[in-house]
Amino acid sequence: MIYPQYEYRSGIGTDIHRLVPERKLMLGGIEIPFELGLLGYSDGDAVLHAITDAVLGAAGQGDIGMLFPDTDPQFKNADSGELLRHAVWQVSQQKWEIVNVDLIVHAQQPKLGPHRGQMRRRIAELLEIDFANVNIKAKTNEGLDAVGEGRAIAATAVVMLRRKVK
Ligand code: MG
Repeated sequence: MIYPQYEYRSGIGTDIHRLVPERKLMLGGIEIPFELGLLGYSDGDAVLHAITDAVLGAAGQGDIGMLFPDTDPQFKNADSGELLRHAVWQVSQQKWEIVNVDLIVHAQQPKLGPHRGQMRRRIAELLEIDFANVNIKAKTNEGLDAVGEGRAIAATAVVMLRRKVK
């Protein structure tokens, strides 16, 4: 039996958004009940933005701002899940498939533990990969900086891509 040979690429992404009143909190593609939400031109989902940048970065295809400029009115209040899906589709045009994603969500508040499973399921669905290949680590910033003071939520993502060698 001949096994296919793959080439691999890793990509990194990071993002931060400010927590403000009168916004829904969208994080990791799900809505989390909380009195504050993330401010952004799109829905402000810092987790999905970090993943999108990691996917594009791994494929050498720039970043989220190049693909979806915040000067373009069609992306105002955009569903970040749709932006991520588009990035996954775009890299798939060069035969890349997602292997896994590892995430750090930096948030002092709200507590993310109870939402971790749902977030993993939604991210797995958006990336079209198995639940087991999505890992989420939640960290507080120990009361330090904007995240630690509860004024922002940040995320860091590492994504692995692979494609068959011709
Ligand atoms: Mg962003």
